[in-house]
Amino acid sequence: MSFSVRFWGVRGSIACPGPGTARYGGNTSTLEVRCGERLLLLDAGTGLRYLAKTLEGAPLEADLFFTHTHFDHVCGLPFFRPLFEPQNRFRLWAGHLSGAMNLRRVLAEFMMSPLFPVPPEVFRSGLEYRDFRAGETLAPAPGVALRTTPLNHPDGATGYRIEYQGRSICYVTDTEHVPGSLDRNVLRLIAGADIVIYDCMYTDDEYPRFVGWGHSTWQEGVRLCREAGAKRLVVFHHDPDHDDDMLDGIAREVERRLPGSVVAREGLVLEP
Ligand SMILES: [Zn+2]
Ligand SMILES: [Zn+2]
Repeated sequence: MSFSVRFWGVRGSIACPGPGTARYGGNTSTLEVRCGERLLLLDAGTGLRYLAKTLEGAPLEADLFFTHTHFDHVCGLPFFRPLFEPQNRFRLWAGHLSGAMNLRRVLAEFMMSPLFPVPPEVFRSGLEYRDFRAGETLAPAPGVALRTTPLNHPDGATGYRIEYQGRSICYVTDTEHVPGSLDRNVLRLIAGADIVIYDCMYTDDEYPRFVGWGHSTWQEGVRLCREAGAKRLVVFHHDPDHDDDMLDGIAREVERRLPGSVVAREGLVLEP
């Protein structure tokens, strides 16, 4: 049974379509993971609407895991057609919220007049909200396990490690590193992993101007993967100001420093 990840949105912070981003893509964070027959979605950025077009037809049962609920990671949700189909069933998961501010309430407040014309009640599919605490291990389906860890990000975020048939895909965005000290939570999560999708918003040169903004660099991704014995780094959550030519340059560098590593682009499919 196959295990794969497909990228529908690779951009951080805000969608940025245009001639300078046409090759890598301008949509925000959205991943489709297939574990055999099981469908897992990671984040609901603007890429989610394009994924929806491939899912029409048969009844759907899927789990959607949010890293967190900043706008670029949730704004595609109300435009995800399968949520309007009564034959479909979804579970929505988040591990960064606590107390009264649970996932159901966050989405209700985000889809609220006058910011948005209709509330989540317009969704006709089955919908379950599953709040958990980052650090727990989740088992959404037989044979599929997700280890999780808290990340270093304003308002919190959750890193995931999806394990299926002895292979692993890690999804670690949005998170900020502390220069000179590798994040122990991230190292534990990605230890020996096959694929590590990491928040590479900045370069090490740019980072000092963005301390405290909650993001990391592709060079830190390389350092983490090397230390953790992870096989492939996937540069992800691109800065909207990084155009295709700049990402080409990062792709060459990252492949040189950690062979097999790539820069995420829309339409890319990887198998661990
Ligand atoms: Zn983000
Ligand atoms: Zn964020």
